[in-house]
Amino acid sequence: MHPERIRTFLQEQGEPAYRAQQAIDAICSGRVLSFDDLTTWSKGLREKAAAELPLMSLKEKKILASSSKVAFKALVELADGNSVETVLMSPKPGLWTTCISSQVGCAMACTFCATGKLGLMRNLTAEEITDQVLFWMQYMHVHNMEGRLNNIVYMGMGEPMANLTNVEESLQLLTDPKVFNFGDRHISVSTSGLVPGILRLGKNWPQVNLALSLHVANDIERTAMMPVNKSFNIAKLQAALKEYFTLTNRKVFLEYILLRGENDTPRHAQQLIDFIEGIGKPHLLHVNLIVYNKTGAKYEETPREQSRGFADRLRKAGIHATIRKNLGRDISGACGQLAGEK
Ligand code: SAH
Ligand code: SF4
Repeated sequence: MHPERIRTFLQEQGEPAYRAQQAIDAICSGRVLSFDDLTTWSKGLREKAAAELPLMSLKEKKILASSSKVAFKALVELADGNSVETVLMSPKPGLWTTCISSQVGCAMACTFCATGKLGLMRNLTAEEITDQVLFWMQYMHVHNMEGRLNNIVYMGMGEPMANLTNVEESLQLLTDPKVFNFGDRHISVSTSGLVPGILRLGKNWPQVNLALSLHVANDIERTAMMPVNKSFNIAKLQAALKEYFTLTNRKVFLEYILLRGENDTPRHAQQLIDFIEGIGKPHLLHVNLIVYNKTGAKYEETPREQSRGFADRLRKAGIHATIRKNLGRDISGACGQLAGEK
């Protein structure tokens, strides 16, 4: 659903503008799944819209629910036959977060990530991005699910900052009071470290949360794990975060997947501490330690005890760190496993 499409359609029918807003409000509530259900419109108009105007840019191909019913993963098909994955999860009872994709595949080729193995097929449009949110709102409505979808994270397939024009348009639609009306602070964008994107987000969307996928804090190992580090290395990331803080004064989340023997030793903890202290505002950085999800790559997850030890080292240095809960592992819905299906 793109509001402009509805506005244009109604203009062509010679209908007043408020009819478009009626439809947008109803659709964005998640309770109207087809133009036929739009009772505020005349029967003729409903039928014409239903015949000519696709309400969704994507459709369900497959849904998996975690055994605990706190995470759902959908494979959705786009109009051109490509598919992406999108996730709905409940970190707290009554609250739902959706994890959305920004590209079909990803060009960044991080060695630990299932999406990275696919390469990039194409960017998603703003409508395809926001329709993933709408998809889950409709899903919650149809299945009478308790609670509210109130958080959106751009942590599915793809690198949002390699598709920034469409991602910014999607942010505009999601936060527009006349469209989806989500609060900026309920949205997070995660990046592997494309510095121009970080700065643009800071300038244009200072209230949207930023997450930086750091994963290791020295250039040699980071370049081996994340080729993007060749273009935007540790020093450039530190400089970008400094500037981001000047622009926003907002807390940034550092994502750090703990990989056994690769980035989880005391030396690595110290490098992470140095990285953070080098930026100068440790209270504005929060480290999210992520449990690795198997993707077929050579890595193993860090044992739980050792993860706690890593977190304790950070905390002793005065750094906020949490080990992220891993929802939906049984449906391969957790981060990095969104490889889609062939
Ligand atoms: N491309 C963006 C956003 C999508 S990836 C980025 O890289 O930030 C979202 C998060 O999932 C990132 O923090 C990423 O590093 C993490 N991730 C990727 N593969 C993973 C895996 N196998 N296990 C756990 N997290 C993974
Ligand atoms: Fe792309 Fe993010 Fe996966 Fe890296 S971790 S390959 S940037 S989706």
